[in-house]
Amino acid sequence: MTKYDFLFKRGHIVDPANDKDFIGDIAVKGDRIAEVAKEIDNSLAEQVVDITGKVIIPGIIDTHCHIARPEAKGAGYRMLINAGVTTAFDFEGPIEVIKREITKYGCGLNVVVLEAIYPENGIKSQDPPMEELKKVINKNLDSGAIGIKILGGHYPLTPETTYNIFQITNQEKGYMGFHVGTTKTGSNIQGLEEAVKLAEGKPLHIAHINAYCRGYVMDPLLELKKVMDILKKSPNIVSESHLAIHNACYGGINENGVPRSYVLRNALRAKGYQVSKEGLEEALRVKYAGVYALVGSKMEYIYGDKAIDYWKKHNFKVGICFPINRRRSAEVCVTERDNKGNFVVDAISSDAGAIPRNCILSHGLSLVKFCALTLSELVQKISLTPSRMLGLKNKGHLSIGADADITIFDPDNAKVEIVLIKGRICMVSGIIFNNPGRLIVTQRGANKLKKQEISTEIIDLEDSLYFKGKGGENK
Ligand SMILES: [Zn+2]
Repeated sequence: MTKYDFLFKRGHIVDPANDKDFIGDIAVKGDRIAEVAKEIDNSLAEQVVDITGKVIIPGIIDTHCHIARPEAKGAGYRMLINAGVTTAFDFEGPIEVIKREITKYGCGLNVVVLEAIYPENGIKSQDPPMEELKKVINKNLDSGAIGIKILGGHYPLTPETTYNIFQITNQEKGYMGFHVGTTKTGSNIQGLEEAVKLAEGKPLHIAHINAYCRGYVMDPLLELKKVMDILKKSPNIVSESHLAIHNACYGGINENGVPRSYVLRNALRAKGYQVSKEGLEEALRVKYAGVYALVGSKMEYIYGDKAIDYWKKHNFKVGICFPINRRRSAEVCVTERDNKGNFVVDAISSDAGAIPRNCILSHGLSLVKFCALTLSELVQKISLTPSRMLGLKNKGHLSIGADADITIFDPDNAKVEIVLIKGRICMVSGIIFNNPGRLIVTQRGANKLKKQEISTEIIDLEDSLYFKGKGGENK
């Protein structure tokens, strides 16, 4: 009998948790890492794979993505696995859709879910009564979502309601994700300042920091300075930023003929378009705005008349994007450090999945080539720190006994070659082996899921960077 199932030979191993960065071999047995060394004997393994010239890292943990889209038909899972992601933190849900789809489409991915609540989605208005909030939050935490997301930037709630949702979610030991903005502020630095105040020192995950530095309030350089200063003083806030040029919002129109999403309104206003259905149609016509749609097995951007037709055919309820994320903001959010040398923004996310901008590796490696990050620092921000944020103790590193979640890629073109999750081959050179996905849940969510045939793994959020904050031993 052979000792190992897989032996990956002569790869560039990058494992910041164990301070490893060398050319060597990694062996996998079952669902675990079994050995890491300069050289491991070929005869010990059933399958020996030469990965000379490739980089091998603990699997990418995408701390903010969107898997489920009504029209996606599993595209989100396929796009994530092709991007080298092994664990996806979905920042929207719906948890019930993911539960229906994860066994069929899952691609072997580990999936963690926050459920988004906003008017007409879980709650009735911008200012619902406490009882309604308690009910919807508890229902979602019982259903397998580990927490709640507020899309305040797109669909603002009153500051009081936002505060109440923070409070209830925290009391129930749920994870709170926030795209900043309320009826008083917006998806900008004022919204971020307000969010930190409303958190009152309690745990909060602020989404895509780069998106609040678009120059809507003041010079973007000053916005960046201000945001970094706030975050440096807020050890209770965990955060990520993404590297994509495009944003993403829904193209829905309200009864007054105005786009429902406030982010979409801002994007129109920024370039002088009318904030109306007609203004959005014009932006689509001139290709300032695009639509993302299922093309073959994945979502892609479409433009011009094709985009307008698709948008109308779907009653305007499609994903819309604008190229409004500044490169300078992306770069500062990724690289800025505090006076102890720790990164101010904890992770690099994609905010993608079913949105076609899964550029964690492609853009991340560009920053490595530019010497803005070392390869080890990149892995810290896309795997190690994300694992800590969620309390995933067996992930984010390549220690012996750790989960065999592994991403292998070509550093020259950022092409992902092999993805292993829990020791199973899930993707090789773009060919996906569609294993069922696995839902990562809290104990509370697991109780209800027992009756359903979904593979689960239980985490203890109280043991996460999110709940412990960044003041202590964590970094
Ligand atoms: Zn998002």
